[in-house]
Amino acid sequence: MLSSDVADQDTTAPTTWPDREPDELPWPEVPPSRRISVYLDAGHGAADNPGNTSCFCVHEQDFTRSLADDVAATLEESGRFWVVGSRAGDQLVAYAARVEEATRLKADVFVSLHSDVRGKKEAWSPEPTVSCQRATDAPGFSVLYSDEGEAALVARRLALAERVAASMREAAFVPYGGAEYAGLYEAGQAGVFVDRHEPKKRIFVLRRPTMPSIIVETHNALDPREAERWEDVGVRRAFAAALGRAILDVAR
Ligand SMILES: [Zn+2]
Repeated sequence: MLSSDVADQDTTAPTTWPDREPDELPWPEVPPSRRISVYLDAGHGAADNPGNTSCFCVHEQDFTRSLADDVAATLEESGRFWVVGSRAGDQLVAYAARVEEATRLKADVFVSLHSDVRGKKEAWSPEPTVSCQRATDAPGFSVLYSDEGEAALVARRLALAERVAASMREAAFVPYGGAEYAGLYEAGQAGVFVDRHEPKKRIFVLRRPTMPSIIVETHNALDPREAERWEDVGVRRAFAAALGRAILDVAR
């Protein structure tokens, strides 16, 4: 018994993200009653706000815009969603204008895409003449929400956050444990965190929208394994399907 267990372990391929492919979850069989409208916010891309710089020296605003375009395409292709994006190309859009637009369009949910930077940073060169920072000790996704405001809306935000995190875990994305979030976010279910910044620094897109809103920090942008994975079309499709299933569960 023991020896065969050991042998199995030795020959088994890595089964944990980011060393494995996530699964593309199937869409629910139930026919859609109506299309759900999703305001898909590509984080940053506002004046003086390019976001973080990844281990490949890519600005977060460029990553989120490209990811949002791909996720929107997968969601729309499913025939179950209308997706409105927050910005196109190099356009700069204020966060307040995004929330106003989502309200005007009566979006069912507001999903903001971001990447995180965390872990023990070190200098490295992804290419001979390029120098950036990397950290490989803190991978994983997180889903953020706010418990500020009206109880019914807070409950709907929490339901969306928990469903999205569960769906991502089901697809084999690994949740971040939250070690560096102490004092900023408080952990709930695996991968779910509530905003605990001091009141004046709380996150606008989590507390302002009148529809349920969340931020998905897709991965640690300083981790080259994750940053590379998230450039992959299959990974983006798997994420979009996980996100879409979760939204259908809470919004239909
Ligand atoms: Zn961000």
